[in-house]
Amino acid sequence: MKPNAREVTRCEDCKALVFFAVTKGGERQCLDVEPDPLGTVAAYRVDVRVWWCRTITAAAEADQVAHPLETRFRVHAATCRRRPRAKQGEIPFDAAAASLTGAGGVVVPFRRRR
Ligand SMILES: [Zn+2]
Repeated sequence: MKPNAREVTRCEDCKALVFFAVTKGGERQCLDVEPDPLGTVAAYRVDVRVWWCRTITAAAEADQVAHPLETRFRVHAATCRRRPRAKQGEIPFDAAAASLTGAGGVVVPFRRRR
């Protein structure tokens, strides 16, 4: 199922067609209008202009057969062409930690590899 014309709006950043679904936590999630079988969010309409969605996180959950009313979509933040991707800011220099490693010691922040 796809959102209808009244449910669709445009991304303020890239003007792509998007729609909003509500998560279990009550957050509004901006989704691409075109369904994608590999999308990370399963959404379904519960009322006029109201969509609920859940994120498909675990691979096991992704392998589950989706509910017949659910359609998978991509999160628009992942496909938006204008919005800059969230980046980790520079970690501020920590003088206290540096002193523990000795004079001139350099603390290398751990960064998870992607
Ligand atoms: Zn966008």
